[in-house]
Amino acid sequence: MLKIIPLPAFNDNYIWLLQSGAHAVVVDPGDANVVAAYCQRQQLQLSAILITHCHGDHIGGVEELQQRYGCPVYAPAHPALKSTTRPVSDNDRIAITQPEISFKVLSLPGHTAEHMGYYAAGMLFCGDTLFACGCGRIFDGTARQLHQSLQKLAHLPPDTRIYCSHEYTLANQRFALTVEPDNLALQQRHRRDQALRDANQPTLPSTLADELASNPFLRCDNARIQQAVQRYCGHTLTDSEQVFAELRCWKDTFR
Ligand SMILES: [Zn+2]
Repeated sequence: MLKIIPLPAFNDNYIWLLQSGAHAVVVDPGDANVVAAYCQRQQLQLSAILITHCHGDHIGGVEELQQRYGCPVYAPAHPALKSTTRPVSDNDRIAITQPEISFKVLSLPGHTAEHMGYYAAGMLFCGDTLFACGCGRIFDGTARQLHQSLQKLAHLPPDTRIYCSHEYTLANQRFALTVEPDNLALQQRHRRDQALRDANQPTLPSTLADELASNPFLRCDNARIQQAVQRYCGHTLTDSEQVFAELRCWKDTFR
């Protein structure tokens, strides 16, 4: 049976590890020691590394793990990552035999230009694109790209479990509640996630259905969100892409 383990790293990263029998696949190993220690404890052999994008907290452990386990590294082509053995692009299929799992690669530019997601039946590893009740900041992508990438994810099956890379949920929910204070699904979710964090538990994975109901960045066509964003920016917004761009700016300065 496939188990999916969040390995906490740095302040608020999760390195996701998919484990079955004596084999594992790891997503975005920013810290080699965290992964190697877990594999040693569980007597696991690493059979593949998947990379969503080339920020240091996602790729810092790749070279060391690749040398230690000799496993393939699936990643978007990027000069920062020298140990990629299988460059991936949009719509590629990845078949891993141990554990037996196949992924579809989704190009998700916006947080960075090269960002990819990995979708398998019922689960999505989306790095820093979609967060629980939030989305990634825009580095070298654009607001239009990030909006389109999130819309692409919004069309996956609603029961898809969302494995993003950071525990930002409560801070994202404080912002979301400022934007949309009357959203009952958001209020309930915030209470549930606050209880999880109080018990030192991850709030992840969420489901796409959760995000569609309570993540403002997936709800830019909602009239009340549009009105709130217009009040923030002080001018009329005519489409959901403009709402998204201003909402992202608002979040960047929100404390
Ligand atoms: Zn990042």
